[in-house]
Amino acid sequence: AERPVSVLGLGMMGSALAAALLKAGHPTTVWNRTAAKTGPLVAQGALPADTAAAAVTAAPLVIVCLTTNDDVHKLLAPLAGELRGRTLVNVTNGTPGQARELAGWARDHGVAYVDGGIMAIPQMIATPGAYILYSGDEQAYAEHRETLAALAGTRWVGTDAGLAALWDLSLLTGMYGMVMGVAQAFAMTGRAGVAPKEFAPLLAEWITAMVHGIVPGTAEALESGQHLTDVSSLAVNQAAFPNLLAAFAEQGVSDELFAGLQPLLDRAVAEGYAADGLSRLSELLKTQ
Ligand code: NDP
Repeated sequence: AERPVSVLGLGMMGSALAAALLKAGHPTTVWNRTAAKTGPLVAQGALPADTAAAAVTAAPLVIVCLTTNDDVHKLLAPLAGELRGRTLVNVTNGTPGQARELAGWARDHGVAYVDGGIMAIPQMIATPGAYILYSGDEQAYAEHRETLAALAGTRWVGTDAGLAALWDLSLLTGMYGMVMGVAQAFAMTGRAGVAPKEFAPLLAEWITAMVHGIVPGTAEALESGQHLTDVSSLAVNQAAFPNLLAAFAEQGVSDELFAGLQPLLDRAVAEGYAADGLSRLSELLKTQ
């Protein structure tokens, strides 16, 4: 028989997680602050708990998915006794520091803590593209990995509880960088009357090609410590980047997303890295 699990927090994501567990055959107890949200899951076979305490004591594995880690702390602080001896998997989005704080609290109360970073939207849960990053108590993770695999692919990143959030937020950072570029490129072309659907295929193809070169190339340079380039030097980028900023001004497009790159390029060249490639910027960004 599949193992029992409890899910606390049935928002868009928590509901998707509970539904995936039910579909995989796990006896699943659910609790939500607004009780009405248990309805659809009960229809799928979930057991509704009247209180969070009752949900916690219903299973050795407790998955919590609330809006913020502050909400998690507020909800669980009075339930330390009920949680003792169980595994708490917290997939609420937060910072590495928040995850470490919750892990410390859990350790003090005899609770095995695993933090999770969900790399999926609710509709992707239990489909092949989705995965969840995990960190924290490795023994508890190993014990429950098969159950967690019902939610999405599993990716262990280390015993420091903050690591799942660190990887998660770093991946999101890459996404936001891309979002900024896409927003700016459409603003530039749009201001000039270029049809978005005419420009879109070129932009997608360009970004894809650049990603495939830049991401592994940067990793290679960072691992070898060898940033010298025969592709595109920081000196060339420093000299060319003002053209972007000037073009934004010419077109009457805001430069608020991109103005910050020029001082970084200037600093890189001033510090003697003119012949290095863009991979050097990662090293420079490691200090404030
Ligand atoms: P929703 O807004 O749909 O749900 C939030 C949930 O948190 C609700 O169940 C809500 O209860 C509960 N909640 C909030 N505050 C409290 C509190 N103080 N005490 C008890 N329960 C509380 O958000 P999502 O489900 O979309 O997101 C949940 C988490 O998952 C977030 O951290 C989010 O960043 C993360 N996540 C979401 C993704 C997504 O695509 N949706 C993707 C990856 C991660 P109530 O119903 O009573 O308001």
